[in-house]
Amino acid sequence: MKISTLHELFLESDGISTDTRKIKNNTIFFALKGGNFDGNSYADEALSKGASHAVIDDPNYKTSEKHILVKDVLETLQHLATYHREYLDTPIIALTGSNGKTTTKELIASVLSSSFNTKATKGNLNNHIGVPLTLLSMNKQTEIGVVEMGANHQGEIAALSDIAKPNYGYITNIGKAHLEGFGGIEGVLKGKTELYKHLKKHNKQIFLNIDDPKLVNAAAGIKTYRFSKNEDSDVQIKFEKAAPNVVVSYDQQEIQSNLVGSYNFTNIAAAIAIGNYFKINPAKIKTAIESYTPTNNRSQVIERDNYTIILDAYNANPTSMEAAIYNFEQFEGGTKVVFLGDMFELGVEAEIEHQRIADLITNTATDKIYLIGSNFFKTKGTDTRVQRLENFEDLAHQLDIPNSNTQILIKGSRGMKLERILDLL
Ligand code: ATP
Ligand code: MG
Repeated sequence: MKISTLHELFLESDGISTDTRKIKNNTIFFALKGGNFDGNSYADEALSKGASHAVIDDPNYKTSEKHILVKDVLETLQHLATYHREYLDTPIIALTGSNGKTTTKELIASVLSSSFNTKATKGNLNNHIGVPLTLLSMNKQTEIGVVEMGANHQGEIAALSDIAKPNYGYITNIGKAHLEGFGGIEGVLKGKTELYKHLKKHNKQIFLNIDDPKLVNAAAGIKTYRFSKNEDSDVQIKFEKAAPNVVVSYDQQEIQSNLVGSYNFTNIAAAIAIGNYFKINPAKIKTAIESYTPTNNRSQVIERDNYTIILDAYNANPTSMEAAIYNFEQFEGGTKVVFLGDMFELGVEAEIEHQRIADLITNTATDKIYLIGSNFFKTKGTDTRVQRLENFEDLAHQLDIPNSNTQILIKGSRGMKLERILDLL
């Protein structure tokens, strides 16, 4: 089937579905493959549950007119998204970076939604499937799109940019995340700035945090809209304080966010800068930032009778660990306890980076430190405040923290599921 014909069917449908457990009436089912499932075998179920068509790539399942047989379902999804994006002609802002993409995306979407019909990536659907699905969730009424792009190896952002064809771009930071796939920090820089390259080639614009020298260097020769803590930029956003929540000021107003962590300052500043660029009323920008509350273990503060807990168990890498540790240092009073879980995907740098973080945390004024996971277990040191635990399961027996006025930081990679600590406290 020609992509233009499929696109006509798509326009008559009520969207795309890829999961028969959540199928909606009159959607087109794309029979994607996963690690241990083959979507083709779900095509009939999708149709019986109300899908208008099922796109499949195994001829054995082609049993009706409603089955659309293609060479490769995933490629077809990507081609359809590419075709749809051109049909839309909606301005699109693409975001990538090592840390803070989803938070920044949510903040930008909150700001833009105050004045425009805005569509943004849902949750963390930021890969070769999520980006096409995000584009296909937009329609002619969409006035602006915000697309999160994730990557853990070279070439990925370039490919996603070719599909989304962004008009604007923003890179949150270049940090030590996915070092394994990218091949070290230089590799991360190269991989993430594929977005800049794409925008430069098409004479499009970026939003730039000019207080970050790495990003400034990478942005040479690209049209920019610049924001900074200082006056010397297109829009000035000042950092007021980090604890308990980040407060910034902009256009003579103080904005109180619901976000913890001084690292969230740039995430907030980016959203304000983009709102300012699109001429959104500053009072609306303030309301939009103040109304955003993070979910999903992403830097939440949990107040219990005796404890203030910063739960950041959504993900971790050396850069975000460092940011979380520095932020926790700014919390004053009471006993301070830190739980750090292994950082995944560091490849050959795992040993060095875990040791560096272990050294970093022991250099702070923390009363008790739990290092959890096989990588942290291997770190060296003689500090008596530190407990090293190879397995999470050992924690229950080792836990010894005061029952009053205690500040707790919990951070580790998603796979460590450190939110389980909440049940032990
Ligand atoms: P993913 O790669 O999973 O999509 P992401 O880039 O979307 O992650 P978020 O989900 O917004 O990032 O944030 C994840 C964690 O990263 C936060 O909980 C926080 O610890 C850390 N973080 C957020 N923003 C920054 C930042 N600007 N600099 C450093 N660390 C950050
Ligand atoms: Mg994300």
